[in-house]
Amino acid sequence: MIEVAPPSVAQETLLNVRDLAVEFPHQGGLVRPVRGASFTLAPRQRLGLVGESGSGKSLTALSLMRLLPPPGRIAAGQVLLRGLDLAQLPERQMARVRGGRIALIGQDPMSSLNPVHSVGEQIVEAIRAHESVSQRVARERAVDLLGQVGLPNPAQRFDSYPHQFSGGMRQRVMIAMAISANPDVLIADEPTTALDVTTQARIIDLLSGLVEEREMAVILITHDLGLAASFCDDIQVMYAGRIVERSRPAPLFAQPLHPYTEALLNAICRLDFDVDEPIAAIPGQPPLPQSLPSGCAFHPRCPHAVARCASEEPASHVFSDGRLAACHFAEQRAGGAA
Ligand code: SF4
Repeated sequence: MIEVAPPSVAQETLLNVRDLAVEFPHQGGLVRPVRGASFTLAPRQRLGLVGESGSGKSLTALSLMRLLPPPGRIAAGQVLLRGLDLAQLPERQMARVRGGRIALIGQDPMSSLNPVHSVGEQIVEAIRAHESVSQRVARERAVDLLGQVGLPNPAQRFDSYPHQFSGGMRQRVMIAMAISANPDVLIADEPTTALDVTTQARIIDLLSGLVEEREMAVILITHDLGLAASFCDDIQVMYAGRIVERSRPAPLFAQPLHPYTEALLNAICRLDFDVDEPIAAIPGQPPLPQSLPSGCAFHPRCPHAVARCASEEPASHVFSDGRLAACHFAEQRAGGAA
């Protein structure tokens, strides 16, 4: 039995995720690609979820919105949005929460936007899905939203189709749709991965401004630790469905407490890159949920693994400053001994 440490509860808790587990049937059995995720989120807080593909980041986010691909399901835990447990909410009520109080921006706006409707019509539809306002009022609001997300000439742009926009403009439209109901929580799943670096910076600036103006909390899902460090107040590192480290960005970069975080940081290309010392790629692949290694799931790839790591799953150790690390040697590493 893994001891899951309680998350540090912020003064005003908007979202409180407790022991969240996601389950999928697999070959007559069940697998859990998310295993006991716990965290809290306060208004205006920006939380980064990082890790390699398959670590459970996106499934965690999708489960918050109850958008898991079938036959996946929330197997355990609570998702408390201002005290309301979304994991238990009847689907009719959840449909109002989804897109209303908790909204999602995906990675690829082209596949999320409908190519046969104008961008304005799609924002109007999003507004009217959550509010009973007239077509005229919704149209005015949509034009205003297009202006808020930085599209020039929003009244003219209203009638444009997605294919007439660049990738950055389409992502701005997706953000306009996501904030149209003034959500408490915005989940941004790799929102800038498909964009060039300049456009990426503009989209991140836009999100930063919206967080302050609207007091939203943001969960940024990314494989880019640098982006998470520049945008987020807190970073959670996921591996094999578990949160293996949680920290503010500066201490995480200065002294990672989990060897997986350390390995991710070592794999980043730095300004002082030395051609004679190539970037240290993490050996091997993340495990599939149906074939998790025994003990610590990271042990086959961990340079610090000892015999105990293969047989005993480490508990999450929470430090007095709120940092968390799920490694048998977290305390030693915090003391600089490992
Ligand atoms: Fe590595 Fe062992 Fe720590 Fe897992 S518990 S991260 S294998 S040292």
